[in-house]
Amino acid sequence: MLRNVKDYHYPGSLDEALSLDNRESRSFFIAGGTALALSDSSRPVELIDVSRLGLNDLELDRENGNLKIGASTRIQRVVESGAARSVLGGFLSESLEEIGSYPIRNAGTLGGSLVRPFPWSDIIPILSVLETEVFYYHEGNEKTRELSRLYESDFRSTLNSSIIEGVSISLPEEGNTAAKFMKFSRSEFDVASLNLACRLTVEGGYISKAKLSIGARPMTGERIPALEDNLVGKKLTEELAKKSGKEAGESAELRGDEKLGQEYREQLVKKMTEEAITEIMKEVANES
Ligand SMILES: Cc1cc2nc3c(=O)[nH]c(=O)nc-3n(C[C@H](O)[C@H](O)[C@H](O)COP(=O)(O)OP(=O)(O)OC[C@H]3O[C@@H](n4cnc5c(N)ncnc54)[C@H](O)[C@@H]3O)c2cc1C
Repeated sequence: MLRNVKDYHYPGSLDEALSLDNRESRSFFIAGGTALALSDSSRPVELIDVSRLGLNDLELDRENGNLKIGASTRIQRVVESGAARSVLGGFLSESLEEIGSYPIRNAGTLGGSLVRPFPWSDIIPILSVLETEVFYYHEGNEKTRELSRLYESDFRSTLNSSIIEGVSISLPEEGNTAAKFMKFSRSEFDVASLNLACRLTVEGGYISKAKLSIGARPMTGERIPALEDNLVGKKLTEELAKKSGKEAGESAELRGDEKLGQEYREQLVKKMTEEAITEIMKEVANES
């Protein structure tokens, strides 16, 4: 908990919010406050509330093929929105529903989960397998960056001095694309001990696009490009699912921690990858 909040600001514009942040004082942007509430510090701090900056749109733009979600949109609102439900047969809303408990989803925002994600974040693998662009405001300019490049080390200081405005998710072609999210945790409300998201596009029985991301390794979610490349061009079969599971367990960078040993994580990655691919195979077969 931040025990020494000296001032709480409600800026009326993005520029005002950035100028408040650029001063000498130690400051943080705050949205739902659920992650900040976990900070433990008695150093003086100022909070800059971003929840009144008009960053809470949720808009499905079929013409341009994307879903735009403002940074201050509560996770639960995304879960319940019909627009989000239309993404990949409910993949987005159903996976986001796996996050924490209702009160956390009802207070926590999408933007708040992106700047300094917890290593066990579910949102990172979920959004990583969709085509997600992040909109951010930096030094008076609106810019975009692909989600998978958001955490590159040379971007860290830019990200820390930016306001996330929202994300834009490309709507995948329906019918031949399906995705699955899987989470292993010790109890319903516990955070993930391992999570995994996979998305495949299948044309004529062959995989034309593949994305697989694993989180809570225990490090933050990361895609596995070598495995994705190996999936592309292959016929989607149960044998392929099995083989890919084995490959994922061997190629993902995994470690042990107080929750799970490394070997246990390897076994889980193997099983979860195989299962995700098998389920996608069934879904695509049913749709076509
Ligand atoms: C008990 C608990 C359980 C949880 N369980 C899960 C789980 O199962 N799965 C999962 O994925 N996550 C989980 N979370 C994480 C949760 O999703 C995040 O805490 C939440 O989404 C953060 O959003 P917020 O609006 O509360 O962020 P805040 O706490 O307000 O802010 C978080 C960080 O983002 C910065 N920030 C906020 N908004 C912006 C912005 N627009 N631009 C720039 N910086 C910004 C803040 O300065 C701060 O550094 C859990 C959290 C808690 C507390």
